[in-house]
Amino acid sequence: MGPMDIADEGLLDLALDHSVRWLREARDRRVAASATHESLRAALYVPTPEEGEDAASVIEALARGAQPGLVASIGPRYFGFVIGGSLPVTLAADWLTSAWDQNAGLYATAPSASVVEEIVREWLLDMLDLPRDASVGFVTGGQMANTTALAAARNAVLARAGWDVEELGIIGAPRINLVVTAETHVTIKNAMRTLGFGTKSLLPVETDGNGRMRVDAMKRLFECLTGPTIVCVQAGNVNTGAIDPIAEIVDLAHEHGAWVHVDGAIGLWGLASERLRPLMAGIERADSWSTDAHKWLNVPYDSGIVIVRDAAAHRNATSSTAAYLIQSSVERDPTDWTPEFSRRARAFPTYAALRHLGRRGVAALTERCCDRAKQMASLLRRDEHVTILNDVVLNQVLVRFSDSDELTRATVLAVQDEGTCWLGGTTWHGVAAMRISFSNWLTTEEDVERSAKAILACARRVWEARGAAVVG
Ligand SMILES: *Cc1c(COP(=O)(O)O)cnc(C)c1O
Repeated sequence: MGPMDIADEGLLDLALDHSVRWLREARDRRVAASATHESLRAALYVPTPEEGEDAASVIEALARGAQPGLVASIGPRYFGFVIGGSLPVTLAADWLTSAWDQNAGLYATAPSASVVEEIVREWLLDMLDLPRDASVGFVTGGQMANTTALAAARNAVLARAGWDVEELGIIGAPRINLVVTAETHVTIKNAMRTLGFGTKSLLPVETDGNGRMRVDAMKRLFECLTGPTIVCVQAGNVNTGAIDPIAEIVDLAHEHGAWVHVDGAIGLWGLASERLRPLMAGIERADSWSTDAHKWLNVPYDSGIVIVRDAAAHRNATSSTAAYLIQSSVERDPTDWTPEFSRRARAFPTYAALRHLGRRGVAALTERCCDRAKQMASLLRRDEHVTILNDVVLNQVLVRFSDSDELTRATVLAVQDEGTCWLGGTTWHGVAAMRISFSNWLTTEEDVERSAKAILACARRVWEARGAAVVG
């Protein structure tokens, strides 16, 4: 096999070896990365390459150099942020996606990628029981899904007010009321900034103790609003997992002609479950939705999804109509539905996930994560120093130790360092909390038991070292 061979099997075998070793290790090893910034620099740095290097030795150096700095977030005891793993079928499909290297921008450049997007769109709307004629775009993540949906929303509500954003831009446009929950995710704020709205122009609505938007507060706000309005609700608060009272908000918002966007990065997959769906009642009446396949669906990064009821508004906001593009009414040009132009055929792994799991599998996966969250809360609650701060309605658990910010933060660090599991800290309504999130398909009841034991042991050590001093 010469160096110019397009299929270098030896090289791919080497990558396969390293991949399999990593996956096995990620299941059992200490979850956090073990390397320091300096040691990673030392392992991976070479002066700017002039002559180049043999391919196998590059892959070897990359794999060996990067490994100590990898976080085993793909494994069953990673409870940080809201991070899913990868179902084996999705990883395999992702490899094919790389090997095929299709430019999924146009039907003409990647017919199979385009057809698979059409099919995933149909399955998705069917499984989640959302309007079957809604449009779907496959973007990098929840951030871009929110940005895309809100671009469509902005343009649509301004069009109704007689202002064409596509032609005139937003300078000089009528003001839009941007109603968000006080608990809104940072990516909504970021999307608003990208779309030309400062964060000061957001109108936050008060929330209740579990982080749900308060309908009475929203009613009061609506009494003084006129003109174009967008309302952002969430299905899955990033701290508590709480879901806004969507039905009541949609009714109220629609009475006022507002567009309702649902940030469903975490919770939207729960719509496949008969058990979880009622938590999101009314969600099918919203105007746009965003979600992540790389969270609860356990598809590799990067895989976000935007869904818009008014397909024309979506397409107007994102389509790249240029004279040299081949126009077709039947064949889907994926670039019409995302801000990107050339891109990876990222619907292949999601196709694999949905076909492999089926509606029942998606439902079971989301229900299982919620069960693990309840299990963790009940195991930790047994300790007298522990308070569970949230009502565990979805996959998130917020824990506080000895009602002390200092001890809670110290316990988070101790758990991260101990290595059985990994979780992060957060601030919830003014107090420090440990946040435990369940998004991985692999997590078993035993993983939760083992992790709860490790967390309580760390808390005890922290308490013994400094608890009496801090609390007493
Ligand atoms: C994760 C998350 C996002 C952002 O999604 P990315 O895929 O990280 O871009 C948005 N909203 C909520 C509620 C999230 O949990």
